[in-house]
Amino acid sequence: MCGVLGIWGRSEVAADLIFGLTTLQHRGQDAAGAITFDGSFHVKIGRGLVSRVFEDRHQERLRGTWGLGHVRYATMGSTDVEDAQPVHVNYPYGLAMVHNGNVVNFAEVRENLYTEHHRLVDTSNDVALILYTFAAALEQRDLRALTFDDLFSCVDATRRAIHGAYAVICLIAGRGLLAFSDPHGIRPMVLGVRQTPKGPEYAIASETTCLDYLGFRVEGDIGAGEAVFIDATGTVHRHQGPREKPAFCVFEYIYFAREDSVLQGRVVAAERERMGRALADVVRRAGLRPDVVIDVPASGFLFASSMAQALGIPFRRGLAKNHHIGRSFILPTDEERRRMVGLKLNPIRGVLEGRRVAVVDDSIVRGTTSRRLVELLRGAGAREVYVISAAPPVVSPCVYGIDMSTTAEIIAANRTVDDVCRMIGADAVVYQELSALRSLYGEISCCDACFSGEYPTHVDREALDDIRREKEDAGR
Ligand code: 5GP
Ligand code: MG
Repeated sequence: MCGVLGIWGRSEVAADLIFGLTTLQHRGQDAAGAITFDGSFHVKIGRGLVSRVFEDRHQERLRGTWGLGHVRYATMGSTDVEDAQPVHVNYPYGLAMVHNGNVVNFAEVRENLYTEHHRLVDTSNDVALILYTFAAALEQRDLRALTFDDLFSCVDATRRAIHGAYAVICLIAGRGLLAFSDPHGIRPMVLGVRQTPKGPEYAIASETTCLDYLGFRVEGDIGAGEAVFIDATGTVHRHQGPREKPAFCVFEYIYFAREDSVLQGRVVAAERERMGRALADVVRRAGLRPDVVIDVPASGFLFASSMAQALGIPFRRGLAKNHHIGRSFILPTDEERRRMVGLKLNPIRGVLEGRRVAVVDDSIVRGTTSRRLVELLRGAGAREVYVISAAPPVVSPCVYGIDMSTTAEIIAANRTVDDVCRMIGADAVVYQELSALRSLYGEISCCDACFSGEYPTHVDREALDDIRREKEDAGR
């Protein structure tokens, strides 16, 4: 999972680009990069947080009024800077590209690019694959007389070749900024406009929160099969390409997006509160009567507080979090992840002693976090511990860019809720029900493959095996 940003401006863009990336930092902390254009490309890519990658001198060096930025959420093991974004080529146009998502037919596309178009993609980076495929389509056109229709038909050709989830922004040197989503619209992307004395400026970003901070008014989503091109004069062209049944990633609502973002017209915070209320029904039906509800900060907060309110049970802050510590989720071994949870979260004395505690997290994936939390809460005097997951049981790996691990690691795959409860040592485990989640998202039709195993695109065994192999290699 990653964050993308593209700005079509009329003044120097670097400062907004870099600041904008900090507002998408929650979408990726492993690498950051930016590219600008002022007749030539200027690039800066580095490992780690935006604030660490970009220094004042980079802002000066990134000259130009158009630019692209990226924050990378590497799945374990692929934190190499070579795989970071943006990527660019100088032929047949100067093209720079960033994307968020995951290509599921990587090997097929790579092979086809080499045999049909004599282009060798020698990275494992999806965006290079998309970029070369798009470039190969462009090259077959009369470049001197390239029309908007030509451009969009090259996007559609790219879509026919590339399967999976992708929200792409492409800077075409001297021509403009192009953005397009996959036919299911799995990953989020929004367009915004800002009036300036020099005329309107445009931004395209993964989330509206970024547009808010930068002062762009949100114009709407770039959804399933849509493409937007902002040409060199600042005119916006839109195109609806081939469109499949929409399958927007439901995990964006559960965990990934920031709570102040608006996705598909819905405020994420309000969605989490709705899910929290639905969770209260499940807890009630399970016959549980906790004395206190606490959250796993910070991602469990909105679920926990709204669930507690619906149940009429006090919500308290029972765990404090060290915010200045790395991610536990991608550490290679379970023992390291387990230790990291204890370094990150500390029970607050006095809130838990002698109480039946319901602790609410957004999701349980491998069960590492909840197993360690149960120990911590018992150690702090909790009489009983109920672990509540705002997400249904994760049972299948995500092939569209969310780091969900492999089936072998996922605790709920091929296990009952009772098994999970025993494994994490809780007195009870309650999951959101898939049917309840679906009834909340029936109208917009979401991808819930991680909970249902129903993938919206064709996913062959090979793609699933690739993910497994990648993880196993990384674990070595
Ligand atoms: P587990 O410890 O069960 O493997 O993972 C669940 C915990 O990891 C939850 O606290 C949840 O907030 C977090 N989590 C779930 N999905 C992701 C993810 O894709 N990336 C990261 N960094 N954390 C995640
Ligand atoms: Mg968490």
